[in-house]
Amino acid sequence: MKARWLLPALVAVSLHANPQCYLQGYGELITSADETALILKNGAVLPYHTNTAKVSWDEKINNADLEMQLSQSYDSGGIETPPLYLFDPGRLRYQPFFQALYGKDQKTIEKNLVTIQWPTLKGAIKLPVNKVAGVDKKLYAIGQEIAKLPKSDRIWAEGATTYAYRVIKDTDRLSMHSFGIAIDLAPTKTQYWKDEAPSETAHIGYRNTMPISIVRIFEKHGFIWGGRWYHYDTMHFEYRPELLAPACSAKN
Ligand SMILES: [Zn+2]
Repeated sequence: MKARWLLPALVAVSLHANPQCYLQGYGELITSADETALILKNGAVLPYHTNTAKVSWDEKINNADLEMQLSQSYDSGGIETPPLYLFDPGRLRYQPFFQALYGKDQKTIEKNLVTIQWPTLKGAIKLPVNKVAGVDKKLYAIGQEIAKLPKSDRIWAEGATTYAYRVIKDTDRLSMHSFGIAIDLAPTKTQYWKDEAPSETAHIGYRNTMPISIVRIFEKHGFIWGGRWYHYDTMHFEYRPELLAPACSAKN
């Protein structure tokens, strides 16, 4: 009888913040991952849980740890249904993790940047991207695939920008652009939640014009899309393979 009670509990754990998602997502960069700590191949040891307050939404977004970073499952399915209130898979981030992987400060990050060619309708442009985890090669491959789409879709990949060392608007948290692992597309034609909401907890309407064909190419290569967030940022893509790993994907 005991085993029948144990099984549902184990399933629940595996679907919720499974540390294995980090191992699956970042492969050789991570030596081990469990409910205590993540150990990176470069020697960094990161706690899986921190003791900071994480009850209110503002606390969650400011104090997320490695467990919370996986607490909302990223669903790479259709986009017919707008994201639920405060459902932002990937937006809850533990900043020291990204600093340990991609560079502890601006100088270190910039040493890890390389230039890739990004195709546009008027020819290729150069974009700086972090080479750690092969993010540069993945983004290059994404650009090559987008170049094969019809022009009506390709126009949404114009105006691309990647690296900029900066904090997220109105916060102290570093943008993923600071690590050279994010890209914005069609910045003048896409939608950003802050343009219509006064605060994180405001009730806002969802808007998007980014075609799903582009989103699918990014997701295939380990990038998540800001258009799947309640706090939508439809120009924005970032490299977050832990959220697309088999142990964490909402599709599995
Ligand atoms: Zn962005």
